[in-house]
Amino acid sequence: MALSGLDIYKLLPKTNCRECGFATCLAFAMQLAKKAVSIDKCPYVCAEAKSVLEASSQPPIKLITIGTGDQKLEIGNETVMFRHEEKFHRPCGLGFIIEDSLKDADIKGRLERINKLKFERVGQKIEVNLVAIRQNSDAKRFAEAVKLTYANTDLALVLMSDDLAAQKQALEATKGRNPLIYKATKDNFADFAQLAKDYKASLVVACSDLDGLSDLTKKLNEAGVAGLVLDTGKKPVSEKIWDLTQIRRQALKKSNRALGYPTLVIIEEPDPYEEAIEAATYISKYAGIVLVKGIETWQALSLLTLRQNIFTDPQKPLQIEPKLYPIGQANDKSPVLVTTNFSLSYYTVLGEVEASKVPSYILSVDTEGMSVLTAWAAEKFTPGKISDSLNQFCVADAVSHKRLIIPGYVAVMSGELEETSGWKVTVGPKEAAGIPSFLKNL
Ligand code: SF4
Repeated sequence: MALSGLDIYKLLPKTNCRECGFATCLAFAMQLAKKAVSIDKCPYVCAEAKSVLEASSQPPIKLITIGTGDQKLEIGNETVMFRHEEKFHRPCGLGFIIEDSLKDADIKGRLERINKLKFERVGQKIEVNLVAIRQNSDAKRFAEAVKLTYANTDLALVLMSDDLAAQKQALEATKGRNPLIYKATKDNFADFAQLAKDYKASLVVACSDLDGLSDLTKKLNEAGVAGLVLDTGKKPVSEKIWDLTQIRRQALKKSNRALGYPTLVIIEEPDPYEEAIEAATYISKYAGIVLVKGIETWQALSLLTLRQNIFTDPQKPLQIEPKLYPIGQANDKSPVLVTTNFSLSYYTVLGEVEASKVPSYILSVDTEGMSVLTAWAAEKFTPGKISDSLNQFCVADAVSHKRLIIPGYVAVMSGELEETSGWKVTVGPKEAAGIPSFLKNL
């Protein structure tokens, strides 16, 4: 837990000498608690107090980076149990297991499909993150499969083998890609610690119980390996949720710093629907990485959509820039539709306008990212605001008419809007799905 200003004050010299630039030690402590200043500003703080303060400012869950460049995946560094308390910072990595026993052509085929799992939703790119190559054959075949994967995808890699020699070959083949090594156990941790250090790679550490897992992470830390990811192995879903929740809770409370690492979950579920449901559960409940086998587009899109929603700051709705957007070959005769600058509202309207093939303008009004009805109830989507937007974005210069289409749910404002704006208001459909037929029959 972060220290309060008073906790920090107790660790300071309390001489009020002002050398830190603050009138009192208490004032300095309050700024330290807000992370607005550095402890180094006080030349008189003792080493012991400094180490306590530095330890308290460490993130409770270590940040782990896998992969490089644009495909780099960062997990960990989370600070809360529930996203309404702050937000979840690092979206869970979604990856796919490829067995090395597959033929080369099949591996390439799977990679081709995995590489295409990229989508755009509400103006953001959402895509999968990892490919995990799992050893089922000998070391030579594992190395071949790893090389094939390395050459056919830029995604971050997970090397899944308990065979030290096979791991060494695979790590040689993937130098420069910063792969994740899977996995250290109580039986092999010394060798795998050396491997992780030699190749400067992060390491998954696996143990079915949390006490055993804590012991292992401490030993790996002592051996000089700091980049760890935790796995409690295959278990029923309810037990897995318990593990993930306990790891997050103990790490955040700093009651067990040995569990202060992100987690990894492997789903071995042959039914694709069950697999997707299980993956959705772990994405929602604290997994840092989820590995699945299914590569169907519907699975990836639904999981990435869920992930996008969970890792969006609940206090800052996704929003777009408020302005006048021309859609298609919009001209001075084109209709003008009004909506809010909530991303989901805008992109839903945009999709339907594009589907109508009627060149149009969409006027996105600044409602601080609220949807139509929410903004209307909060008085952020009012006749006055819409009129201001018409003027601000010079809509009268873009079209030669003065006709405006408003969402059906706010039909109640049409009279007042006509009065304040001087534009003729037409009430559009309540649901965006009605826009294509509405525009075609305008
Ligand atoms: S420099 Fe240190 S001792 Fe002096 S007022 Fe600031 S916090 Fe207190």
